[in-house]
Amino acid sequence: MLIDTHAHLDFHKFDKDRDQVIKRALSVGVTKMICPGCDFESSMKCVGLAHKYDCIEAMIGVHPSDADKWSSEVASKFFVQAKDPKVVGIGEIGLDYHHMRVSEEVQEKAFREQLELAKQVGLPVCVHARESARDVYDILVESGVERVTLHCFNEDLEFAEMAWKRGWILGFGGTVTYPQNEELRKVVAKTPENLFVLETDCPFLPPQSHRGERNEPAYLVEVADEVRRIRR
Ligand SMILES: [Zn+2]
Repeated sequence: MLIDTHAHLDFHKFDKDRDQVIKRALSVGVTKMICPGCDFESSMKCVGLAHKYDCIEAMIGVHPSDADKWSSEVASKFFVQAKDPKVVGIGEIGLDYHHMRVSEEVQEKAFREQLELAKQVGLPVCVHARESARDVYDILVESGVERVTLHCFNEDLEFAEMAWKRGWILGFGGTVTYPQNEELRKVVAKTPENLFVLETDCPFLPPQSHRGERNEPAYLVEVADEVRRIRR
C-alpha cells in the first residue's frame, strides 16, 4: 500500500482521463492520494474530488506563487471548509523565491496567515519552499506550528537535520530518481524512518523513466522503489 501525499489531481491536465488515472494508481497499489490546493478555486476542486472518490483526501491552501489571491475573505471561507472531515491539511503554502510571480512581502503575509489558520483549525501544513528554505524555517519556527511536511524536499543534509530535529516530515518524489541528485539521495538514505512520506507532485516532476511526460500517481511506485533501494 502506498500513499501519494501530494497529487494535483484537480489540474486541467487530468480533465480528460481523471477516472483512468485514479484507476491506474489503485491498480498498482497507490491506495490513497492527497490533493493539495493552490488557490481558492483549486482548493474547492480538491474538496470536490475528495467527496467524489473515497481514495482522495484534500488540502486547502494558497500557493506562494498565487499569494496575491490570498485575502481575509478566502481565510474565512477556508476556516469553515477546514471542518470538512475530508480536508486533512492546509497546503500548499510557503515561499517561492525562484519564480517570484508575487513579491516576497505578499508571499510572507499569506504564508504567516495560513499558518495561523492551521493552528486555529488544528490541521497540519504542507509547505512549498523553493530557494527560500531559511526564511521558511524561521517563519515556521516562529509560528509554533508543529505538524509540518516539507513537500518535494530538495535541500541539503544540513537543512534536513534541522528539519528532523523539529520532527518535520520530508516529502520525497520523482526528483530522487534523477541522476544528478546525489545530495538528495544522501538525505533519503539518512532520514529517520518516521520522518518522510512519498509524493508525486503530479502532473509535475515525473520519475526518470517518464521524464518529459505528464506525471501521475501510479508512477509513485518508481519513487518508492528508488527510496527502498537507497535505504537498503
Ligand atoms: Zn505541488
